Amino acid sequence: MNANLDITPMQEWINTDGKPLIIAGPCSAETEEQVLETANRIKAEGYAHIMRAGVWKPRTRPGSFEGMGEPALQWLVEAKKQTGLPLACEVATPEHVELSLKYGVDVLWIGARTTVNPFNVQDLADALKGVDIPVLVKNPVNPDLALWVGAFERLQNSGLKKLGAIHRGFSNAQETKYRNSPMWQLAVEMKRLFPQLPMIGDPSHMAGKRALLTELSQRILDLNYDGMIIETHRDPDAAWSDASQQVTPEVLGTMLRELEVRQANYGADFSDELAAMRAKIDNVDRELMEVLAARMAIVEKLGEYKRDNNVAVLQLDRWKQVHADRAKQASGLGLYPEFVEELFKLVHLESIRKQTEVMSSITA
Ligand code: PEP
Ligand code: MN
Repeated sequence: MNANLDITPMQEWINTDGKPLIIAGPCSAETEEQVLETANRIKAEGYAHIMRAGVWKPRTRPGSFEGMGEPALQWLVEAKKQTGLPLACEVATPEHVELSLKYGVDVLWIGARTTVNPFNVQDLADALKGVDIPVLVKNPVNPDLALWVGAFERLQNSGLKKLGAIHRGFSNAQETKYRNSPMWQLAVEMKRLFPQLPMIGDPSHMAGKRALLTELSQRILDLNYDGMIIETHRDPDAAWSDASQQVTPEVLGTMLRELEVRQANYGADFSDELAAMRAKIDNVDRELMEVLAARMAIVEKLGEYKRDNNVAVLQLDRWKQVHADRAKQASGLGLYPEFVEELFKLVHLESIRKQTEVMSSITA
């Protein structure tokens, strides 16, 4: 991809003393009390550089809580007055931009459902023409790097230089471990294309559930991202949106203190082609294993079905067909067919082993 961005270094608009930037706050601003209490508890923990809160919420289905709008901006201004924490809000329309600027929101972000639409992004870029405010762009919901890059180009064409990327993962067609699969290699590729562009991880929206927050956050730090945006709420289970992925400000504090911040030389690491390619390979390998694990989970179900219906594990015809199909698909993908054949022999052996294990287990 041929693209160039002129980016103001992050430390010129937010001082984090060289530490990863932490943006923390509730998914949504719900009530004045919730905003103020959450803000003060975040402040007391001492980790946050910026407070986030959704004022307008893009919801997949109608009827869900869609944000409190302008009154929420007033509560956020009060939160900033009490804590001194700069504010970050999501904007999806020129009207959101206008109101956010009116209330002095410090950092704007463009949500994943907006980045997918060049018309919307252009409207935002037009509304921001000549405004010198940091804008963070979440990756689009679908894994299309060009859309992500295009959003930055549109903002840049409006004169914006304080830009940063938020990697929040990509939506899935099937159910997976993650609410939004990280597909790390896309963020790594983004960093390879634009080494100067700050990369901020959003473990909350990748995870979808709090149990996965720590491992994702550590992974983000291991990849030397410039920071994280994490959702935290005074009473997570009672949150009006994204309840299952939020934690209290104190739980977040404990988690952040336990994470290891790697001392790797960030710039050099990512601008080094070799390191970037190796990171890609590591991530692809991890995904390969996740896919294999998903395959084995299906195999296990299949084994149970065969056991309960008294069908033999090995169905020779089925296996011959799998064999032929995979070899054909392999050449279509530019893979050496013999390699794929060998690989699937191993996969098949493991699948038989698993099913035999299931067969000999007691019926539930
Ligand atoms: C959010 O940050 O609350 C949000 C709506 O995120 P995303 O755009 O990543 O879905
Ligand atoms: Mn959210």
